[in-house]
Amino acid sequence: MKKIAFIGLGNMGGPMAANLVKKGHQVVGFDLSETALNSLASVGGKISNSALEAVKEAEVIISMLPSGKHVDELYSEEFINSLQPNTLIIDSSTIDAVTARSVANIAVSKGHKMIDAPVSGGTAGAQAGTLTFIVGGSQESFEVAKPILECMGQNIFHAGDSGAGQVAKICNNMLLAIHMIGTSEAINLGTRHGLDAAVLSEIMQKSSGRNWSLEVYNPYPGVMENAPASREYSGGFAVDLMTKDLGLAAEAGLETKTSTPLGNTALNLYRMWSETGNGKIDFSSIIQFLNGKSK
Ligand code: NAD
Repeated sequence: MKKIAFIGLGNMGGPMAANLVKKGHQVVGFDLSETALNSLASVGGKISNSALEAVKEAEVIISMLPSGKHVDELYSEEFINSLQPNTLIIDSSTIDAVTARSVANIAVSKGHKMIDAPVSGGTAGAQAGTLTFIVGGSQESFEVAKPILECMGQNIFHAGDSGAGQVAKICNNMLLAIHMIGTSEAINLGTRHGLDAAVLSEIMQKSSGRNWSLEVYNPYPGVMENAPASREYSGGFAVDLMTKDLGLAAEAGLETKTSTPLGNTALNLYRMWSETGNGKIDFSSIIQFLNGKSK
């Protein structure tokens, strides 16, 4: 049993913290949202009034925050200086590799272990404890973190040194955005020609168009009972978060002079969809944009 402080109990962090409680860890959580705090309390976690209070006795800290700015603000010098000696810090937020490396360097210089460990698998994976963790950091930190990550995930990869987890994660999310848009485009075309979305989806799933969006995250309402599309695109991976990840991929492309034409197109489509007031709903709602619908 470890004393774990969990900062950021949103769509992903909430169920991840709940899984740690289920596995017998003592979890103290902090979030700016009272609803998020109450949900952790309802599954047996402790809640606190601030991040500083949450980490007071922690052996392990896990953060699951929206963006690099939030991560940078959380891991201030005051915060890092307040930690127990040799704390294991796991940042699972999806952020830029530069921030991940700079925060980890400071933490390591103060005698702590820190890894970037962004995840894949969506809110369903977070709830089921089947996430994929993509880790950047030293081999030693990876080995120490692995048993904790296994309480929340099924596939734990070591991508390389600090920041490598973030690079691998944004490559994955750029591909996810591209195939979600492609899947939406295909379903939209088929239904405009009178095809049933469920029948068309099954055909493509068993043909060469097969992909993750078709298999577990169908963007058309009613095709998959558990997909965000069937609950008005609520409770999934927000359009604004996908836009953020595509921005990170575009920046990473600029840094290395790498062309990412489809990634850049996906970024523009998601940005336009967000600007029409849809930033908070699930990213599979891009099918509505292609269909000429707005909220
Ligand atoms: P979310 O917006 O649902 O949750 C973020 C939480 O952080 C919110 O509850 C917010 O109140 C809290 N927060 C913000 N600033 C804080 C602070 N200073 N202190 C404490 N809490 C603070 O977002 P999410 O969907 O859970 O995503 C979190 C991260 O995981 C993002 O980086 C996202 O890109 C990544 N991610 C999300 C998914 C997904 O399917 N939702 C999948 C993979 C990765």
